[in-house]
Amino acid sequence: MKKDKALVVFSGGQDSTTCLFWAKERFGEVEAVTFNYNQRHKLEIECAQEIAKELGVKHHILDMSLLNQLAPNALTRDEIEVKDGEEGELPSTFVPGRNLLFLSFAGVLASQISAKHIITGVCETDFSGYPDCRDVFIKSLNVTLNLSMDQQFVIHTPLMWLNKAETWKLADELNALDYVREKTLTCYNGIPSDGCGECPACHLRRKGLEEYLQEKGEL
Ligand code: ZN
Repeated sequence: MKKDKALVVFSGGQDSTTCLFWAKERFGEVEAVTFNYNQRHKLEIECAQEIAKELGVKHHILDMSLLNQLAPNALTRDEIEVKDGEEGELPSTFVPGRNLLFLSFAGVLASQISAKHIITGVCETDFSGYPDCRDVFIKSLNVTLNLSMDQQFVIHTPLMWLNKAETWKLADELNALDYVREKTLTCYNGIPSDGCGECPACHLRRKGLEEYLQEKGEL
């Protein structure tokens, strides 16, 4: 796969940055795509830009403000509170169709730049039950994209079965633990690196990091 080209769906967060390092190790040429859907925190896009630049990766930013218009949610509107889903409900951060749209547009871009491989950091294990992060959805979409464009894309999901501690471990194996820890933004309150410490994304991230460092004997 060393000579193949890959496109990473990239938000500037922990997961997709780890995927970017993963892809850079495997593929001859790597580009990244970030979707701008008027995220509450413009800093997300800036983080993504900076990381792509530092890693020497060509970076595409696509305007997806349509998604915000269609499906206002806690990630795009200040007045909607970020909260976990109760009693089987999806959390307020769920955006219906987000990964369907993002990965479809990533497929269009991949065909334009002749990239066979598409990498996404979605994860079924440690996530909030988003249906479009499940393995079955990704496999189904891979087939659909190939049929729709007569392509032979391969969608890779290196984090699909990892919990957050294992995702940190993967970053460490890629010699990127400190980089991912310092440079990425996962926090729903828009604070990079270790974040606000209070929101669900920060809790998940910190718990995973502590678990991993403990296991490694560094905490
Ligand atoms: Zn936070």
